[in-house]
Amino acid sequence: MSDDSTTKAGNPLGGLKLTLLTPLPGDESIPVAAATPTPASGKPVDARVIIVGSGPAGMTAAIYAARANLEPIVIGGVVGGGQLMITSEVENYPGFPDGIGGPELMALFRAQAERFGARIVDADVDRVDLSGRPFRLWAAGIEYRARAVIVATGAEALWLGIDSETRLRGHGVSACATCDGFFFRDKEIGVVGGGDSALEEALFLTRFASKVHLIHRRNSFRGSKIMQDRAAQHPKIELHLNRTIEEVLGEEHVEALRLGKSDGSGEERLAVQGLFVAIGHRPNVAVFRDWLETDAKGYLKTEGASTNSNIDGVFVAGDVDDHRYRQAVTAAGEGCRAAIDVERWLETNDADSARNAAKTVAGVK
Ligand code: NAP
Repeated sequence: MSDDSTTKAGNPLGGLKLTLLTPLPGDESIPVAAATPTPASGKPVDARVIIVGSGPAGMTAAIYAARANLEPIVIGGVVGGGQLMITSEVENYPGFPDGIGGPELMALFRAQAERFGARIVDADVDRVDLSGRPFRLWAAGIEYRARAVIVATGAEALWLGIDSETRLRGHGVSACATCDGFFFRDKEIGVVGGGDSALEEALFLTRFASKVHLIHRRNSFRGSKIMQDRAAQHPKIELHLNRTIEEVLGEEHVEALRLGKSDGSGEERLAVQGLFVAIGHRPNVAVFRDWLETDAKGYLKTEGASTNSNIDGVFVAGDVDDHRYRQAVTAAGEGCRAAIDVERWLETNDADSARNAAKTVAGVK
């Protein structure tokens, strides 16, 4: 896949329809999909499972949860679909030997989830209260209550933030070597960054490129020593230290980089046909930060081999907890695991609630 925000800028949902949920009059427990956004009735919408996020992890969780009759609601974000929505071509998702457009793939995920009854709300969660069950979440002025929650809010690649980089995304500028390296066979490319991601991407890209120019703004890398040594010794990698990228040059495609010297002593032009930006990712944890534990890098933590978070009944899936693999297929796999974890958790907890209710009715405390 390759990033292509420019072509999607006018249509960020890739043709997907907007949906908000409102309770039926007189029945606040059954949410109903409305064709157009409607103002909140003031009544909460109840669900057994709410999935936050509509990328590959969230949608796969929705497919599995819906097929387990858990009637999930997905609160998928105003611009749903995750990082694949700004990806023009996905060639490494299994099952699509000829490749598929990112938005098209996400539309298929969505259609599959909806086919089994998942209800998808195109709104951002702006507040949560996970202090007790039911968990409470607010989106577009509506309160949702859930017995279990799956957090699949993903992560965003960090970008340099210069106009020419944005303009040429999907036209030679990318943030994913695993996805796009293949398109740069026998070409000279630049990689910017000084951490393990940049070193790893530079080494990976030597499989395709005729030469990889690794550009870093300081004179020492922060990545691991072994990766630094491998990059420094690789015959296809040339290091450009103390260099900043001032501009990505090219009309239709990347043609060169205008590099600045970090000490301000001048500029130089570097001819390349691609630029991979590898300066880190930011997990989307904002509304959950006060509730869920994060690791040293700011990603949500899960317990052992499960998708359990530190709060019983709240599960985590996808790039929001994964800074290692960050692939659509690994996120989808984790969404599947989270849905299975939720199903098993609800079996136990719903049984407990049912038993407790029966005891209360019978007067046994
Ligand atoms: P990182 O360690 O935070 O490194 C980001 C790099 O990008 C830094 O060198 C930084 O420069 C540079 N940078 C940041 N903003 C920049 C800007 N605006 N312009 C130019 N350069 C900029 O991120 P990462 O490499 O993605 O790694 C994240 C974590 O994942 C790390 O803990 C890493 O060890 C881990 N990781 C592990 C593996 C592996 O084990 N195989 C692979 C990938 C990542 P400065 O150095 O000057 O700050």
